[in-house]
Amino acid sequence: MSGPGQRLLLVVACALVDSDGRILIAERPAGKALAGLWEFPGGKLEPGETPEATLIRELREELGIETKAACLAPLTFASHSYDDFHLLMPLYVCRRYEGIAMPREGQRLKWVRPAQLRDYPMPPADEPLIPHLIELL
Ligand code: C5P
Repeated sequence: MSGPGQRLLLVVACALVDSDGRILIAERPAGKALAGLWEFPGGKLEPGETPEATLIRELREELGIETKAACLAPLTFASHSYDDFHLLMPLYVCRRYEGIAMPREGQRLKWVRPAQLRDYPMPPADEPLIPHLIELL
């Protein structure tokens, strides 16, 4: 449960969908919190950014993918209390983008069918998002 005074962290995540209906997931690299778990690409909101602007920046930095706000559709929202902060994480779906996803930060990438997402260990905040993607796709 989130408690009074617990720090709030805002992270935005994106399900990038390819023409076969597969979704891109990225492995959190060694040295980071939750290393080895698979997540939807995205990252922390920087001051002054809209969630869409965060995703446009993160998809470019992490994957070399270009998209725009009109191509980002909000789907659902993760809310999870870790020991030291409470994470709020909207999940967007993006089907229209340019470029081929490349691991620009050395992370492993996989394109997986929605029903296969459960085969990849994910952070506890991300797991509840899977049924929403299965239902959508
Ligand atoms: O990616 P980054 O390390 O900046 O994210 C900050 C924290 O947010 C992580 O340590 C993790 O606890 C949480 N997180 C998450 N699921 C994600 C991304 C981040 O639970 N997809």
